[in-house]
Amino acid sequence: MNHAKSQELFIKAKELIPGGVNSPVRAFKSVGLNPPFIRKAKGCKITDVDGNEYIDYVGSWGPMILGHANDLVIEEIKKAAEEGTSFGAPTEREIELAELICEAVPSVEMVRMVSSGTEAVMSAIRLARGYTGRDKILKFEGCYHGHSDGLLVKAGSGALTTGVPDSAGVPADFARNTITASYNNSLEVEEVFKKFESELAAVIVEPVAGNMGVVPPDIEFLKFLRKLTEKYGALLIFDEVITGFRVSYSGAQGYYGINPDITVFGKIIGGGMPVGAYGGKKEIMEKISPIGPVYQAGTLSGNPVAMAAGIATLKMLRDHPEIYVELDEKASQLEKAFKRYSEKYTIPAAVNRVGSVLCSFFTEGEVRDFKSAVRSDLKIFTKYFSAMLESGIYTAPSQFEAMFLSWAHKQEDLDRTIKAIENSFSMIAETL
Ligand SMILES: *Cc1c(COP(=O)(O)O)cnc(C)c1O
Repeated sequence: MNHAKSQELFIKAKELIPGGVNSPVRAFKSVGLNPPFIRKAKGCKITDVDGNEYIDYVGSWGPMILGHANDLVIEEIKKAAEEGTSFGAPTEREIELAELICEAVPSVEMVRMVSSGTEAVMSAIRLARGYTGRDKILKFEGCYHGHSDGLLVKAGSGALTTGVPDSAGVPADFARNTITASYNNSLEVEEVFKKFESELAAVIVEPVAGNMGVVPPDIEFLKFLRKLTEKYGALLIFDEVITGFRVSYSGAQGYYGINPDITVFGKIIGGGMPVGAYGGKKEIMEKISPIGPVYQAGTLSGNPVAMAAGIATLKMLRDHPEIYVELDEKASQLEKAFKRYSEKYTIPAAVNRVGSVLCSFFTEGEVRDFKSAVRSDLKIFTKYFSAMLESGIYTAPSQFEAMFLSWAHKQEDLDRTIKAIENSFSMIAETL
């Protein structure tokens, strides 16, 4: 594959943009390569500036569940843009998207639109604190909730200590209000609650973890979070930025049958445009300004073009429930392929999947939390990734990201992908 134009652009980009990218994982740093610069995409195919075409399993990190440049979504975006791209005033489309979300997700009675997942989580945390009058939050190791200060926090030394900053520039004072526990570990959660009791405003969790690779929850773990937050008067926040409208039309909460107090959305609800949202019971949501004391605002919030893309996407998903059945079936083909070739070529692989998100860790044994996820052999991952890219399969350039299926992936695309998985595993086997 020729990457001359991409190389040239990357050199120039690095002069003008830190690391040449506007979001770190795009830089391909963890796989030691330079990123292809993308020119266009349609369906499940993405084309770089050198004319190389790939079958795409990144899907803009989750939003493109219908595939790229879906005709209907693009038509609605065009219509909206021609009517004006921003007013800073209420519009009918905001009600329409809010209604679609509230109808799909029963625990959400009211919803506030913002412009990114990060912004939505940050606002949801402020709301939980404002509602409960408490400061501390509990998050889980390996879960990502955007880059706001209080959530860029890792576990302090030893269990039950308060968190420490996971980025330069995050004040230790902020991190102190974030407690960290291991994913799928109810015992640790119970200990945290016993220690901090009524200091805890909220527990925030990815109901299917998708930012340490894919790690499914134990249903008992999620149920326990629900029970314990209720017992201690803290709020349960589901960060459904990935899982919302992805693992089912009613999100992970519908899939597992557990209702959180606040739900955070992003990615799919924007249909490829910048949208985030947070919602929950009326009683909680009415604490937000202008009717309540919790301040939150946004110049481009509820942007008409972004709302149009979100509405078109959700309507398509609502009117075609067979999409979820198909996505599940397609993803299961890839899951089986990973397992089959892992056995055939004796490559260690732990394959995790929930619906149309999946990931294969290069390690023996189960992956059910951050500690087991980081056991994956990253040297093998890098070989796997490079071989896939060379065969024209574009996957996330990091072990700790998900593979996303879209409605636009057809059987022939899956067949090519499965062939590429076999080739890549057989190549790895030769180097072991
Ligand atoms: C992507 C993501 C976010 C952050 O959303 P942005 O739009 O990138 O700010 C938050 N939470 C989860 C679970 C995510 O996957």
